[in-house]
Formats: sequence, structure tokens, C-alpha cells
Amino acid sequence: MNKSDVLIIGAGGAGLVAALHAHEKGVKVRVLTKEYPTRSQTCMAQAGINASLGNAGEDSVESHVQNTLKSARGMANEKAVRHMCKNASDAVMWLDSIGVCFSRTKEAKIAQRTLGGASSSRACYAQDYTGLKILHTLYDRCLAKNIEILNEKFLLDIIKNEEGVSGVSVLDIRSGEVEVYESKSLIIATGGYSRIYDKHSTNSTASSGDGISAALRCGAKLKDMAFIQFHPTGLKASSILISESARGAGGYLLNSNGERFINELLPRDEVARAIDTQIKNGQNIFLDIRHLGEDFINEELPQERKLALLYENVDPVHDLIPIKPVAHYTMGGIEVDTSSSTCIKGLYAVGECANQGVHGANRLGGNSLLELVVFGKQAGESASLYALENDFIPKDTLYELRDESENKNIKLDFYKIKEELGELFYKNVGIVRSKQDLFLAQTKIKEIQSQVHLMGVVDTNKVYNTNKIEFLEFKNILEICEQVVENALETKRSCGAHYRVD
Ligand SMILES: Cc1cc2nc3c(=O)[nH]c(=O)nc-3n(C[C@H](O)[C@H](O)[C@H](O)COP(=O)(O)OP(=O)(O)OC[C@H]3O[C@@H](n4cnc5c(N)ncnc54)[C@H](O)[C@@H]3O)c2cc1C
Repeated sequence: MNKSDVLIIGAGGAGLVAALHAHEKGVKVRVLTKEYPTRSQTCMAQAGINASLGNAGEDSVESHVQNTLKSARGMANEKAVRHMCKNASDAVMWLDSIGVCFSRTKEAKIAQRTLGGASSSRACYAQDYTGLKILHTLYDRCLAKNIEILNEKFLLDIIKNEEGVSGVSVLDIRSGEVEVYESKSLIIATGGYSRIYDKHSTNSTASSGDGISAALRCGAKLKDMAFIQFHPTGLKASSILISESARGAGGYLLNSNGERFINELLPRDEVARAIDTQIKNGQNIFLDIRHLGEDFINEELPQERKLALLYENVDPVHDLIPIKPVAHYTMGGIEVDTSSSTCIKGLYAVGECANQGVHGANRLGGNSLLELVVFGKQAGESASLYALENDFIPKDTLYELRDESENKNIKLDFYKIKEELGELFYKNVGIVRSKQDLFLAQTKIKEIQSQVHLMGVVDTNKVYNTNKIEFLEFKNILEICEQVVENALETKRSCGAHYRVD
């Protein structure tokens, strides 16, 4: 039976938190995900999750609220921010209670460290594997509660009629069959869209905005799509992230002359722009953590050391780390209200794919993991309440997937075009934007859209056809790019991550 009360698409932090809380309400919950949960991007989070516990010096909910609002440059919803910050301690304590192994102080309290834009050491962490430990614990809890998680199901479309949502269609990656799953309520938790920048992103390749595209196609509203955070310290060659915890611990940013040029702990938008200016003036930029010492690096930043060695061939204990700013987090997404509900009845969204209004124009480091836990709970509870009060809506349309492999007229390689689009976006819709550059990007997107009929899937296999999945992702990326540029052109004033030189 492909029926459940609450259906959740995505098994990252947001999806699994929502699943656990919906399950608590006694409804039948099912989770579908295109990758295995342990491969979701949440596992990549390193620096920490914010809560004003005050374990490493004085702190308060109000300071957390004020830091978040300041970083958001006036674009956040204060009510949502207050809700998130007020519930932060409970969120971290809940994670602690289900088994997340946070790093500890000598007094056995949860250890906290400083991230950019924060007035105190507020980020709770598990070495620099915070997201990994959180995700594995959540997954373990879901398995222990027998919550059904079906892997390798690629969301195609949301099925609804004028009454509301009735389910989704998915491509089963293993069999190549299209399947329909019905539900009373539906939560989209499919993560962000930073991969529109292709290789200039810290994100996993799965961050192609699939859930946001599907929501848009079914009539949901999107918000602030142009607001994309560039992280100051991606590794220069690979874009792999070197966490803000390195700067929080006292790391310096240096240019080719060995000079520091910015306060490293300013919010990310300011630091990224300062680096961008240096690079445009011909400088190479480096992160320097040598002075922190080998013991500290091994204890607090072990993953950063491994990543730098593996992907940049430098040892941070002895060497400077070459870095550049890269696309990291997407503040824009599916517009939701204070109960995580979209404008479509029965449809909810949470996590990076949603716009809860808590990050505004520039997310504060450590607030995204917090958002997943606070609003994941809320989304799970809201969707289960809706399912308890409403019945299934019969689906009146049967979705059919056009078989991409049927296209005999393939003349263009979509992989190459995706890469070129990523380059264009990094240059024209990146850290600094102008009307002229944005128009150029818009024209290019229109040109690519008019050529999609000349692209397609070369692999004719039905089972495990990753070529087909990647083509579907590419088409979602194109839809998202269009929305991003449109919003960037509409937003004429500079604000946080959206910086207009004109
Ligand atoms: C390198 C890195 C470090 C970070 N560090 C921090 C940090 O220290 N602190 C912090 O607060 N934030 C951090 N972030 C941000 C944070 O990790 C993410 O914003 C957050 O984990 C997103 O969680 P999510 O559940 O919304 O999405 P994800 O974890 O991305 O999960 C999305 C899920 O949806 C599934 N999915 C996607 N498309 C489909 C589809 N078509 N069909 C079916 N399923 C689909 C995926 O398989 C996955 O299971 C970091 C991000 C990165 C990239």
C-alpha cells in the first residue's frame, strides 16, 4: 500500500526530525529519499549548532536573537527568529537526550565555540563532525521507531487538486519505474540549491533544488531566491569547505603579501566580499591556522586537517591553506508560514528548501542545524495534526514520466552546459552583481531552455540510470536558475548576500 498519513520527501536533518515528531503523534509516517540518509548534506555540517547555553561564557537568548537579526540585515521575520532562538536550548538538549555525542568541557558540560557574527561562544559541536553525528543519531532513532524510510526514490512531482495535496510521483532509481505515493499531508525537506554554481559550491551534488522546483510547478510560492550565501573559506581547488570553526578558533585570513585584511569573524557576506575584492586585485588568499598548534588542530579540527591534506595537498599544521569564497547556503526557498505550511493545503516545507524567514539576507553560522531541529519538530507536528483532521484527497490525475531516453535527437551534452552555467553563475550571479551581468545570465538561461529538446539521456538502461537522474536534476537546476536571476533583478538594493554594484 503506497499510502501514509504523513509523507516526507528527504532524509536529511530536517526530514528525519520531522519524521520522529510526526511519529510521536501516532500517525503513519513514510520518508522517501533519493540518496541514503547517511549521504545527505546534513552529514557535512562541521562547525556546530547554536544555543545560548552559556557554557563558555555569558550568553542569552536575546543576544542570539540580536546577532541573528543583525546578520540577516533587516530581512528576517523577527517572530520566527525569536521562536527559533528561544527553543534552541531545548533543541540541543533533545539532541543530547537521543544520543548525539557533543564535545564536552572539563566540567562535562556541552562545549561551545565562537562562529562569525556571534557575540559569544554559542555553537555546540561534536569535534568538526557535528552534522554527521546528528544525522547518524537521528537515523538510528528512526530505525529504532520503525519509521519507514525508502531510499533511492527520486521526487518527480507533487500531485494535488484544488482541495489540496494528494501525494507525489517518484522515479524508483533501482527499477526505473514511476510510482505514486498517496498521503494526507506532505512535507518537502529536500535541501537547498547551491549546486546551481556547479563546482563552485561546498554542497553535495544532490543540492539541485528538486523539491523547490516541484513545489513551484504545483503552485507553491518561492521567496528570496536570489539570497545565496558564499562561504569565505572553500578550498581553492575543490571548493570543499574549511569550516568557520577554524576562524572561530583564531585562524587568520592572509593575502599573498602575508597581510590580514579583514576581521575574520565578521558575518560571512562581509568576509566573502573582502576576499573577492582581494582576488580581483590579483591576490591569492590563504587561511592560516598554524599558530593554533598540532594538538589543538588534531583535537578540535581533525576533519579540516584531513580535508586540506587530501584535497589541497597542504598540512594546516605547517602550511597555509589556499581558499576562495564558494556558494554554501541558500536562504531562499519555499515560502512557509509560522506553522511550516505553504500556500497549498496539506503541503509543508522545512529545512534548507524552505524559507522560514529566520536567515533573512545572510544566515548566521550554526543557525541552519538549529532551524532543522526547531522547525523540523514544528513541521512534523503540524503535518500530523493536518493528517489527523483531514482525509485522503483522491488523485484525479495520473502522472506520467516522459521517457527521456526516447529522445533520438540529442545534439547537446547537458553535462557540459551545466558546467558552463555554473561558471556563468559564479561570475555573473555571484558575490557581487550588476544589472548587466544579471541580464546576460537571464539571456543565457532562456537560450538553454529553448535548446532542452536537443538534450537528453544517452544511457538506455532502465535500472539504476544515473544519467536520467542527472538530467532530471539539470532540468530542476535550470528552473531554479531562472527564479534566482529574476529575483536578483527585482531586488535592486544591496542587502546581505545580494550585493549590487549598481
Ligand atoms: C560543508 C557544509 C558545512 C556546514 N556546516 C554547518 C554548520 O556547522 N552548522 C550549521 O548550522 N549549518 C551548516 N551547514 C548547513 C547545513 O548543513 C544544511 O543547511 C542542512 O544540513 C540542510 O539540511 P536539510 O535536511 O534541509 O537538507 P539535506 O541534509 O540536504 O537533505 C536533503 C534530503 O533530501 C533528499 N532529496 C533531495 N532531492 C530529492 C529528490 N528529488 N527526491 C527525493 N529526495 C530528495 C536528499 O537525498 C537528502 O536526503 C553546512 C553545510 C555544508 C554544505
